[in-house]
This record gives sequence, structure tokens and C-alpha cells, in this order.
Amino acid sequence: MSERPGTIDALRAAYLAGETTPAEVVERCLSAIAERDEAIHAFLEVHADAARRCADALARDRSFARRPLGGVPIAVKDNICTREGHTTCASRMLEHWRSPYDAEVIERLHAAGAIVVGKTNLDEFAMGSSTENSAFGPTRNPRDPERAPGGSSGGSAAAVAAGFVPVALGSDTGGSIRQPASFCGVVGFKPTWGRVSRRGLVAFASSLDQIGPFARTVRDAARVYEVIAGRDPLDATSLARPVEPVTPRLEEGARGLRVGVPRAFLEQAEDPGVCEHFDRALTMLREAGAEIVDVDLPHARFAVAAYYVVANAEASANLARFDGVRYGFRASGADDVIEMYTATRARGFGAEVKRRILLGTYVLSAGYYDAYYRRAMQVRSLIIDDFRSAFERCDLVALPTSPTPAFRLGERLEDPLTMYLSDVFTIPVNLAGLPAASVPAGECGGLPVGVQLIGRALDEATVLRGAAAVEAGASGEGA
Ligand code: GLN
Repeated sequence: MSERPGTIDALRAAYLAGETTPAEVVERCLSAIAERDEAIHAFLEVHADAARRCADALARDRSFARRPLGGVPIAVKDNICTREGHTTCASRMLEHWRSPYDAEVIERLHAAGAIVVGKTNLDEFAMGSSTENSAFGPTRNPRDPERAPGGSSGGSAAAVAAGFVPVALGSDTGGSIRQPASFCGVVGFKPTWGRVSRRGLVAFASSLDQIGPFARTVRDAARVYEVIAGRDPLDATSLARPVEPVTPRLEEGARGLRVGVPRAFLEQAEDPGVCEHFDRALTMLREAGAEIVDVDLPHARFAVAAYYVVANAEASANLARFDGVRYGFRASGADDVIEMYTATRARGFGAEVKRRILLGTYVLSAGYYDAYYRRAMQVRSLIIDDFRSAFERCDLVALPTSPTPAFRLGERLEDPLTMYLSDVFTIPVNLAGLPAASVPAGECGGLPVGVQLIGRALDEATVLRGAAAVEAGASGEGA
């Protein structure tokens, strides 16, 4: 079987054939980062020594290449706790903070033989769609350095797109894996909410947050997913259902799949190139044997509004812990404790994080709770019902990932509403807790465009199978 260069399978084949070693692979990774990441800024911190130590330890285990991710370098979004180095969430608040423990996903990666090479940039506390809200400066899109890589997991998407690492982890609360994957031309996968442990993921909006992989191929994303998914007794919201292997299902192709298209909702797509690629992806799926059916998501257009109530409400509670006492930064010079809290939070948080805490506190306050929070939760229920009805008629729902290709850096910074709208097609999926992938479908004007496939809860296998079919079609067209 011929493997694409730079994929997990190609790497494993090279290890098994004795053509390379983890130490060599790590050095190649580190030198690519040293040479080119100054211009991209995908990484906030590179764990060179730890990666080298890990490579040496692997080399002492003769069967390391048979482990699921044996010798595979991986980058990790910096809101996922690692004992190694810092975990900053791209915030001044946690600039010097070190986690006393590894997140569950990090423990699983280590057990599978993966080599964590560093922590990637993000919008502060994962709040944003462009990685420009990072307190440590933006990441640039490797496909066009004048453009944003998307966000909030822009550093992880860029690290994979730039070829620094074959795979990376991100987190997706409202689109933060899928939208940057689409902007950077890589695969991004958000599993069902609860499928992957959130222990050690710094909480933004707990009922929406989910960790997932970035990769250059659907198969690689599936391989990482298989390692990180599954019950964690220390995350009460992680699901007990056993995780079936998804990679064997990738070859099944699109034959027999029913793919639902919500035509009315699609009008939110602004860009003719995005629409054209979306239609082409549907044609490819049809030619590969899928049946395309019409479905309706009548409440999906209210998702962004409901999301910014629910997500901010949860964020305002989750971020209350950053008070200068328990974690990270503490402002000096205050005369009493209230002044210390206030100065810490005023100086430690950036503008977008403050905006969200203020809005979230407001919508939860007595007198406004019913008008905002309760109504938003009602909308959320309607969206869940919309998907439930759609999935009576189809196996997958297809949507563009983002209404536009990558926008220019700075273009949306002064206009939060336009920024928020870049997630119209991804946010409904988080509100419903469903699995979804973004897969490259081609390019317009030199910029990658992704297509999104959404599945029933816990049906990751069908999402990835459909994504593999789009991938096969797109690469057949030379896209
Ligand atoms: N862009 C969305 C937001 O700003 C989603 C972020 C995310 O998924 N972490 O909230």
C-alpha cells in the first residue's frame, strides 16, 4: 500500500523498515520549526528537550512502531494541560503558569507512543475565530501569511499545514477545530461531546468544549481520535460507550450513504467560491454512490445568537477562578483583596475575554436570566430537534465549514459581530453536541475551502467515512 508522505502510516512504515528513527524525525521537526515558525508563529512553546528524551526512550523499546502513534510528533493547543512547560491559554493571566498534571488526552498520547513537540497558539482562552486574540501575537496562515489561520486553534492548524507536525490537537467549542482546518487546508475533526475526556482542558464553555485532532489526511485524524477517545472516570461527563475502531470503516466509500443538505440555511454562505466547492463536493459524493436528500434545519440560523448567550454564561462562571489567588497572575500594589481581584482581572484578561465575562454575567443575572439564558437554552433544544428530524432522513448533514475562505489579518478585529458570524455553520453542531469533520474540498483564489460533514451522536465512523470519500474525490481532481 503506498502511503502519502508525512502521514502516520508512512512514518510507521519507515520506522518498521529501519529507514529512520524517532530521534531523526524529532530533529527534522525541530529544525523545520526553528527555520520557519518565526514567520508563522504556530508555537507558543517548543518542548525540544522533552521531545528528544521521549524519542530516545521510544528507541529503547524495539516494538515502539507497533504502538498506535509510536514515534509520531504531535503539537498541542496551549489550553490543554501538560506537565511539561507552561499552559498559558494565550493569556497574560496564565503566562507563567505550569500545570501540575497532564490532561487525560496527553496521558493517552504518551501511552500510545506519540511525541509532544510543543504547545500551539490560540485566541485567549479559545475565544475567537482568527487567533488574533492571543496575548502573545497572532499566528499567520501558512497558505498566505497576510491571512488569518482561523481560530481559536489557529496555531495547531498552522503547525500541521506548515508541515511542522503530521498531527495536532485542538479544542472546539463553536468551531475552533473545523474553521481553522478549513482556512489552512487540513482535516479537522470534532468528536461527539463527551467522547473525549475534557480533564485538563482549561474550561471555556463546558457544555460545548470538545478536544479533537488536526491532520493532513482523514486517516491520520481517525488514528489520533482512536487514541484519545473513550471513558475517563475522572471526567464525569465523558461517555461510557465503548469506542469502535473507525479506521477500518474509512475504505467503505460513500455508496449507500444518505447526505442531507439544508438548502435554506445555506444562504448564509457569502462567498461564490465556497458555494461552488460545496456543490462540487456534493457532486463527488453523488458520483461515489451517495444519495443527496433535502433536509431542513429551521432554527439553525438562531444558533450564533443562542451560542453567545450560553457560551458566555458558562465562560463567566468558568473564568471566575482566575482571581489572583489560586492560579497564575496576581496584580501587585492593591490595598485590599477586592482591589487585588479587580486589578488582577483588569490587567490579566484581554478585551475579548472581558467582553465575554461581562456579557455572560449579564445574561445570568436575576431579571435577565429568563429573557436571555432560558430563551437561549430553548433555542438550543429546538436546534437539537432540528438535527434529530434531519437524521431521520439522512446519515450525514453536509454544510460548508465557513461562509468564506481565510480572511485577512486585522480585517475583522474591530467588528466582533462579523467575526462571530464566521462560525454560523459550525456553532449549531456544538449546541447539538454532534460529531463533525472539516475536510479540504479544493481551493479558490489559492485559498483552501473546507466542507463540513456532521453525523449522529456517537457516529464518528460515518462522519470520517464520508470525509474520506470527499478527500478521495478532491485529491482525484488534483485539488
Ligand atoms: N469562534 C467561537 C468563539 O469565539 C468558537 C471558539 C471555539 O470553538 N473555541 O467563541
